[in-house]
Amino acid sequence: MSNQAGSAESRTLTVLIPCYNEQESLPILFDRMDALVSQSETLDYTLLFVDDGSKDDTRPLIKEYASKHSYVEYIFLSRNFGKEKAMYAGIENVHTDGLVIIDADLQDPPELIPQMAELWMQGYDDVYARRRSREGESWLKKATSRWYYDLLQKVSGVAIQKDTGDFRLLDRKCIDALKRLDESERNSKALFSWIGFKKIEFLYDRDKRVAGKTKWNYLKLFHLAMDGITSFTTAPLKIATWVGSVVSLAAVIYAIVILVKTFVWGIDVPGYASTMVVVLILGGVQLLSLGIIGEYLGRIFMQTKRRPNYLVQEQRLAR
Ligand code: UDP
Ligand code: MG
Repeated sequence: MSNQAGSAESRTLTVLIPCYNEQESLPILFDRMDALVSQSETLDYTLLFVDDGSKDDTRPLIKEYASKHSYVEYIFLSRNFGKEKAMYAGIENVHTDGLVIIDADLQDPPELIPQMAELWMQGYDDVYARRRSREGESWLKKATSRWYYDLLQKVSGVAIQKDTGDFRLLDRKCIDALKRLDESERNSKALFSWIGFKKIEFLYDRDKRVAGKTKWNYLKLFHLAMDGITSFTTAPLKIATWVGSVVSLAAVIYAIVILVKTFVWGIDVPGYASTMVVVLILGGVQLLSLGIIGEYLGRIFMQTKRRPNYLVQEQRLAR
């Protein structure tokens, strides 16, 4: 501990926990958080639960827990907005010096928070936890996520942290920066990388979910992945332009060849196969390009509506 010169520095830290139908995990989480809070000397904890429209007993459980502890805060959203927005709701309402984001299912062990805080005390602004292992996740999920982050790194030109999730400790500087990024189609991981600041990696073993089951599916993950790419780069639009140019050029050359052939040797009726190939390739490229434009246009559409990122049903914030 940084107890030199008798100046025991005390900082306030909020643990932000987005929850969606987590009634099975919460009792275990409460116990482990209680242990953490009571053992702490240099850190003054606040627990902020953001309930993302749970339909089970998550809310009553949080309320009951909050009634027993003054350091527990909560925000109940008006419906399920997704983890990204739930985290943003938390980030907007944090009033402490720092913030740690953890999952309610205890995949990110809260016992590591003091070690992360030590790096924070040493002057780092973003202590991000990197998974040494990813137990309980399928081979396909690991492979696709690795491939995706390599791609994101290449297209964005921003250093993306591999094998990291949302489990991290952020200094006030980062919190204030993130609050300014109020984009509607959020991919936090991309935003955490984008803001910069003094980052340091912290290795840990990601546990299995203690109870309940994952709320992610491949459709949601695909949308999040597209959010990451579209929020960083317009490269796909440029690729569409390039592919379009190359295909058009090839088409012009082919047209000239056909014209010359027709003038020199006269009309030659067979040609069904070549016609079909050209029509199909052109059609495919056009649809793909339209799809890419659509991905961006859709996000521009969502953003221009300027709808709030989330709505609050009920909240208890201490300070
Ligand atoms: N979560 C949320 N809203 C959602 C989906 C998930 O707040 O729409 C929360 C969930 O309660 C958990 C965290 O986000 O605390 C991570 O979710 P999950 O464990 O399902 O994802 P995984 O760990 O499988 O990536
Ligand atoms: Mg999980």
